Amino acid sequence: MTNSSGKNTTTDAGIPVSSNEHSLSVGPDGPIVMHDHYLMEQMAAFNREMIPDRQPHAKGSGAFGHFEVTNDVSKYTKAKFLQPGTKTDVLIRFSTVAGESGSPDTWRDPRGFSIKFYTEEGNFDMVGNNTPVFFVRDPMKFQHFIHSQKRRADNGLRDHDMQWDFWTLAPESAHQVAWLMGDRGVPATWRHMNGYSSHTYMWVNTEGERFWVKYHFKTDQGIKCMTQEQADQMAGSDADYHRRDLFEAIKRGDYPSWTLHMQIMPFEDAKTYRINPFDLTKVWPHDDYPLVEVGKLTLNRNPTDFHSEIEQAAFEPNNSVPGTGFSPDKMLLARVISYADAHRARLGVNYKHIPVNSPKCPVHSYSQGGTMRIRHSTDPVYTPNSKGGAEADSQRYPEDAVWSTDGQLVRAAYTLRPDDDDWSQAHTLVRQVMDDSQRDRLVSNVVGHLSGGVTEPVLERAFEYWRNIDQQVGERIEQGVRGTNS
Ligand code: NDP
Repeated sequence: MTNSSGKNTTTDAGIPVSSNEHSLSVGPDGPIVMHDHYLMEQMAAFNREMIPDRQPHAKGSGAFGHFEVTNDVSKYTKAKFLQPGTKTDVLIRFSTVAGESGSPDTWRDPRGFSIKFYTEEGNFDMVGNNTPVFFVRDPMKFQHFIHSQKRRADNGLRDHDMQWDFWTLAPESAHQVAWLMGDRGVPATWRHMNGYSSHTYMWVNTEGERFWVKYHFKTDQGIKCMTQEQADQMAGSDADYHRRDLFEAIKRGDYPSWTLHMQIMPFEDAKTYRINPFDLTKVWPHDDYPLVEVGKLTLNRNPTDFHSEIEQAAFEPNNSVPGTGFSPDKMLLARVISYADAHRARLGVNYKHIPVNSPKCPVHSYSQGGTMRIRHSTDPVYTPNSKGGAEADSQRYPEDAVWSTDGQLVRAAYTLRPDDDDWSQAHTLVRQVMDDSQRDRLVSNVVGHLSGGVTEPVLERAFEYWRNIDQQVGERIEQGVRGTNS
């Protein structure tokens, strides 16, 4: 049999094979034999094709592109990839949160918005979402929160009752839940949504001056959302709609882009700001910290092997380059540990050797061995050494993205500041940002969600939760669910 490629099939070891149709057998009608290693290789590889889903953010896709700095923010950061005119290759992955890898793209859920910048000083990752806030502010609650959004132990079903049970017992979720139940809880496509770091990070300039910062990637395509009805229909007709939309847009040369803006807070402001600037359930109002434009991110290349380039992509907020750093946000500090741990569990200890995760700059680390090691270790394999091995230079790369803190070890909530209540920013969103028609859809979405199996006393708590966010909206939701006009 011939084909136009002129290539002969080989085993994974590159050995030409004689048939892709027939197993080796004892005569045409006899049993197959165990030493048909080509058949064995195919069966064994097939049995091992699937790797564990991400827990969470299992369903998603991504693309490659670049980020170009269009403004001068060098007075805030010395990060090489943020200097004027610099162009850096990027990988992005979008995702839903709670659904498994085959779940519909249009389920109501926050969307992951993760970017890997392949900078000349190592990889910088922003592991963000399409929302500027999150449901909880302490990592101790995170695992429980995700469990409540996934599946029950007994019947393996998702359960609105358990979702609202958790949310109403964790009122810090109000801001994010209000956001999620509004129009932006189902983006029309990934191209039509914003991305936010959500967390507060640090920038450091060449003088060693420090700033607290938040990243906002604003879509240049404009915001577009789906109604609940459209989302439900799409979930049935094309569960992979968002994945398909991104791939096809890039394929036809309609390259999506986002403009990066920053909110920048002088280091000292954080001490006296009326809102805890490290609380992940809060935004910094734009009037307090206006957006500063930085550059443009453009996606222009699709993956050619989804598994190698997207499924095995590993984003981790610990990938922080000189000129950038962390903040005392407890959620961020936990993620700095947890993401790398998740990748080791899912992909193996040498996951950074997978090409999509490898930096595009030289690596001079002393890590060694481990399964699936690809990058060669070289002598000397220890430090300090007098054999010409790499050295750390604290003059050139000072540990300067730091802050000071003091206090006894406690298990306690953040100290409250004057405007740190759980309801105000959710109220502002619902009453001041949303217009009447957006509010109508919010009420309708919540009524529909609560009518989907939420039982007492969770239901009563949900009405109170919404009355705390906005009295009128809460009353309308209760009327909608109870079916009365009283
Ligand atoms: P502004 O009026 O300056 O900003 C309002 C923000 O709300 C804009 O960023 C806008 O995004 C976004 N927005 C508009 N419609 C919706 C919607 N239906 N769902 C979610 N977000 C929407 O106000 P403030 O900065 O004082 O913030 C007021 C409230 O806006 C906050 O409590 C928060 O809920 C929400 N918000 C604030 C952000 C911030 O970083 N300050 C970021 C996003 C939301 P866009 O410009 O892309 O249309």
